[in-house]
Amino acid sequence: MTIPPLSRRSFLEALTLGTAGTLAPLARADAPQKLQVGDPAARALGYVENAAQVDAKKYPSYVKGSNCDNCLQLQGNAGDNYRPCSLFPGKLVAVSGWCSGWTAEM
Ligand code: SF4
Repeated sequence: MTIPPLSRRSFLEALTLGTAGTLAPLARADAPQKLQVGDPAARALGYVENAAQVDAKKYPSYVKGSNCDNCLQLQGNAGDNYRPCSLFPGKLVAVSGWCSGWTAEM
């Protein structure tokens, strides 16, 4: 039995597919996940994905107009809808969200 010669194109396709198939699960496993409002840490700080849903009676420190997007704790790239927050390591928070850890930007 003879094995047909592998074309350069087929070789590169096989290499690309093989590499992608190997690395993709690792990349997904390491990717930060969105913070869920039911997460114990999120619940402890009253995190909501939409600052308009803040219960101002429960959180009297809430400042109208405050949200993750204008919080000092927000990290990551401007323009992304979900970004890292220094209070929730390894998670992404909604820029439209809010929690009682909100700190005014300087
Ligand atoms: S600390 Fe700031 S950026 Fe982080 S969840 Fe609370 S309000 Fe949003």
